[in-house]
Amino acid sequence: MDFRLTEEQEALRESVRDFAREVVAPVIAEHYEKHTFPYEVVRQMGKMGLFGLPFSEEYGGMGGNYFTLCLALEELARVDSSVAITLEAAISLGAMPIYRFGTEEQKAQWLPKLISGEALAGFGLTEPGVGSDAGGTQTRAVLDGDEWVINGSKAFITNSGTDITTLVTVTAVTGTRPDGSKELSTIIVPSGTPGFTVAPAYSKVGWNASDTHELTFDDCRVPAGNLLGERGRGFAQFLRILDEGRIAIAALAVGLAQGCVDESLKYARERHAFGQPIGNYQAIQFKIADMEMRAHTARLAYYDAAARMLAGEPFKRQAAIAKLHASTIAVDNAREATQIHGGYGFMNEYPVARFWRDSKILEIGEGTSEVQRMIIARDLGL
Ligand SMILES: Cc1cc2nc3c(=O)[nH]c(=O)nc-3n(C[C@H](O)[C@H](O)[C@H](O)COP(=O)(O)OP(=O)(O)OC[C@H]3O[C@@H](n4cnc5c(N)ncnc54)[C@H](O)[C@@H]3O)c2cc1C
Repeated sequence: MDFRLTEEQEALRESVRDFAREVVAPVIAEHYEKHTFPYEVVRQMGKMGLFGLPFSEEYGGMGGNYFTLCLALEELARVDSSVAITLEAAISLGAMPIYRFGTEEQKAQWLPKLISGEALAGFGLTEPGVGSDAGGTQTRAVLDGDEWVINGSKAFITNSGTDITTLVTVTAVTGTRPDGSKELSTIIVPSGTPGFTVAPAYSKVGWNASDTHELTFDDCRVPAGNLLGERGRGFAQFLRILDEGRIAIAALAVGLAQGCVDESLKYARERHAFGQPIGNYQAIQFKIADMEMRAHTARLAYYDAAARMLAGEPFKRQAAIAKLHASTIAVDNAREATQIHGGYGFMNEYPVARFWRDSKILEIGEGTSEVQRMIIARDLGL
């Protein structure tokens, strides 16, 4: 058992921490307030190689692994979650399906730009009427000659409508199995394909500098060769993508929880009440101690899930535990950090206000807390 980071991992963590503090922190509040996408930050993350962290050098990646991505996400989310989710979704939901399941031709065509951060991709699983029960997908794709004709819509798709979005992969019903169940497949739809419409950005409670849209497909035709992996493997593909993604979301949640500790420590030293810094009062000290405990234990949970995944061992239960625990404690820490900041915690100019608004979605996206409990219970044999 050794959870200490290697020198290389420490160096990465420090460089992302510096980047978050020096480049992200000064500009993100304005993007958040104005609901604008931070293109310049994304461009610089691309230059640093962050979009290539878990990918092999063959496609322009950094040759790291999923754990190094998690370390970077944690450090980004410690300062801002919109930027962290942009990177998480770009890699885990955007490029990873193509990296894992694509043909050599698809990889050569799409990966270099996604891995360099010059382009972004979205992953369309959720629909307006179907989320947790993703097997109930309604979007249909019918093979007509050498083209797929797609009809349907997808809801809440991250990174799907930026100026640099190049494609979305969508899950669609492509037939019926002998047992009567739906055959699901995954298809690549390049941006700008006729019949593919991106709705205006949603007005969200949090993650306001991240890009989220509803997508519609109306007789949208793409080449048959845009099928990702084997026909009928869509269900298995997204389960794998979501299992991994949960570890990344857990890391992001730990980052937010740690950011709450950072900001609360600073504020508790600065703010005076009844003639003393509020940090002198045990009630405040205990809040911060509990916040640190929660961030630390949630970090261990995602380290464990990532270690199992990298060792090629089963990790579904551990990833669900990490995501469930980390998202729960992120909400707890955000609530307590806001409390420590008093009235200023309710003002948007303080980062904790952003942390509070950004924390809730962590209990919903990439599988709700109820879904994580279902996965854990099922894995325990219930
Ligand atoms: C900002 C944002 C970004 C997102 N990005 C993406 C993206 O890039 N790609 C993508 O595909 N999706 C994305 N999503 C969608 C997200 O993954 C879904 O919102 C989430 O999976 C929940 O689905 P739902 O909203 O349809 O809720 P529902 O599935 O309708 O659930 C509603 C409630 O019922 C509960 N529930 C459902 N079934 C059960 C059950 N069997 N037992 C007990 N409780 C149950 C749920 O836990 C939840 O509390 C995003 C969402 C948001 C808000």
